Amino acid sequence: MDSVQRMVEQFGGDDVKMRRLVMYWGATVLLYLLSLSILWVEVYSGNAARRPVLWLTALAIAGHLLFYGLIRLSKYLHLTPAQLSVYQGRFAIFCTVAGYAMMGPLRGASLVILLVILVFCAFTLEAKKTHSLSVFAILLLAGAMILMKYAVPHLFNPKTELIHFILSGSMLLSVAFLTGRLSELRARMKAQRAELIEALAHIQLLAERDELTSLPNRRYMSGLLGQEECRLKTERFAGCLAMLDLDWFKKINDAHGHAAGDEVLRRFAAESRLCLRRGDVLARWGGEEFLLYLRDTRLEAAQAVIERLRERVASLRFDCGGARFGVTFSAGLVELLPDEPMNIGIRRADALLYRAKEEGRNRVIAEVAITIAA
Ligand code: GH3
Ligand code: MG
Ligand code: MG
Repeated sequence: MDSVQRMVEQFGGDDVKMRRLVMYWGATVLLYLLSLSILWVEVYSGNAARRPVLWLTALAIAGHLLFYGLIRLSKYLHLTPAQLSVYQGRFAIFCTVAGYAMMGPLRGASLVILLVILVFCAFTLEAKKTHSLSVFAILLLAGAMILMKYAVPHLFNPKTELIHFILSGSMLLSVAFLTGRLSELRARMKAQRAELIEALAHIQLLAERDELTSLPNRRYMSGLLGQEECRLKTERFAGCLAMLDLDWFKKINDAHGHAAGDEVLRRFAAESRLCLRRGDVLARWGGEEFLLYLRDTRLEAAQAVIERLRERVASLRFDCGGARFGVTFSAGLVELLPDEPMNIGIRRADALLYRAKEEGRNRVIAEVAITIAA
């Protein structure tokens, strides 16, 4: 089974889209084989000339090898599936019309192939291209018929062929119209699917982000900490957690209005993004309360990060209706121990935050866990 899989991958490539193109190509090879076999039966029955059929066979083989190469190299040659489809479609139409001209009295039957070609191309082409391909087929067929009428009048029955032309021409236009409609439906479905994927991504973002500050929200942070808790079971040291709370925030709201308070929260989030390292995650945990997770970080390094943030926030100035004010935060910082449940770490950080408030605010109190609370 493995060797079959390997063979398929070698022939069709490991990309699913590429493999689909190669599969279509393989199906057209089978159709060509069938049509050429019938043509050769006509040669051996004395109804078709050998030399032109030989040329057509050689052309079909060369064309197919070339198309296989173009499909496999399409990425490097910047060829889209639609472009390839147009080339393959035109080539197939040309071969079919040439085969029609070479066939004996059965030539009318070969025109059915034109419809199959159109359906094949409709898989990848938009409606307009399918229409122009059918016009191309009709014009080529008309040209071949006119040529035969004058070049080999003894092999050409104008009345029969005119009926063939009218029938196949109208069928080609009908199939082009129908497959064109299908292509439009498919394009609409594709667009709707893209919109759906985008909407889903947006919903996911809304579910995980805080709307005001664009920081990860509590739901996201809880999920992340849950994952980290599993990961950290095997680590020697875990990382740090800090609980941050803006000082006297209620007073800011009361003195400058709720909108000013919102602006403070937004600025705090923006400044923290500039200050924190990649990998540090700050989430809005509650109203003016934030939880910071510093992955794979020891207490001293975490302390430096959070002090930097504290100084930066303390240096900010806000202008509101002529008043100028600043904001500070207090924080409790703990280093987690391996196997320490996150909720215990959060509780310890919270207790330290409480102490920071009591000791005068605008400060960070840090502590290594010595014993693991139950
Ligand atoms: P402390 O230093 O002890 O933390 O004092 P504080 O005033 O910051 O704390 P308190 O818990 O008394 O007040 C928090 C205030 O935060 C109350 C609440 O109205 C406000 N708040 C919570 N969420 C928002 C928000 O999204 N926007 C605004 N503007 N205010 C908010
Ligand atoms: Mg507060
Ligand atoms: Mg608070």
